[in-house]
Amino acid sequence: MSASAASLLPRVRDLSALRDAVSGFRRKGLRIGFVPTMGALHDGHLALVRHAKTLSDVVVVSVFVNPKQFAPHEDFDRYPRTEDKDAQLLESVGADLLYLPSVDLMYPAVFASSVHVEGPARELEGTFRPQFFDGVATVVMKLFNQVQPDVAVFGEKDYQQLQVVKTFVRDLDLPVNVVGMPTVREADGLALSSRNAYLSPDERQTAARLIVELNAVAEAVRSGGDREKALNTAKTNLLAAGFGPVDYVELRDADTLAVADAQTPNLRLLAAAWLGKTRLIDNIAV
Ligand code: AMP
Repeated sequence: MSASAASLLPRVRDLSALRDAVSGFRRKGLRIGFVPTMGALHDGHLALVRHAKTLSDVVVVSVFVNPKQFAPHEDFDRYPRTEDKDAQLLESVGADLLYLPSVDLMYPAVFASSVHVEGPARELEGTFRPQFFDGVATVVMKLFNQVQPDVAVFGEKDYQQLQVVKTFVRDLDLPVNVVGMPTVREADGLALSSRNAYLSPDERQTAARLIVELNAVAEAVRSGGDREKALNTAKTNLLAAGFGPVDYVELRDADTLAVADAQTPNLRLLAAAWLGKTRLIDNIAV
């Protein structure tokens, strides 16, 4: 285990050091909370860590940009990597251990297994990023087996991911409690995201239209308006504001993510749209 000059937060990079630390926690009878991330941390991530602190005695945070959830044309290489700043932020919110596995550690040259997920993984992001949720499920399964947390906290920002993780944890009987946290937003409503760093100043201003349009659809649905019309208006308005393409704006069953109908009790509105070279996703309860 090593501490850097910049931050006193212990960082571990290999599995045996992680296992030593975790078994130390376990010997003391401590309850372990876990927050998996890809780094470039912001207040959304820190809210998850703060919440994990309230649910456990020690909080382990992982930073791993997972190549298996990026398609070859996606932004794996340019994804922001800010380890020292991340460590400082994590220390400031009381995280106990930062786990930074390498790609080689996670996926050695001989690696022949993966977790395949269906159900809530099948459409929406699953349509536009076909390898994505198997990549997420595989890395989350590995991280859970490595860290062996009692509780793991995920953000509703990635609502479909949260439902996918809850589903495979339940289906495969993993002994971890998966907890979701509401999305942390900027003052103008834009959901915090590491990818917002890609936006030009103009795009950053336009980006806030996404939540404005989602709120308008939610309001129309709540007041009994025509759902198809509201969804189409949102897509048209996003295109007119400078988004494009709009991958989807859809109303779904909040638990299963199946297509919603008039009888669906709990609705979730989910969207993904491109702004220049950046793909933004967001979602809200209806
Ligand atoms: P990422 O680093 O993007 O993989 O995200 C790591 C975790 O942080 C995931 O559970 C995300 O859903 C969560 N997260 C990312 N952005 C936000 C946000 N704005 N509010 C709440 N949680 C977030």
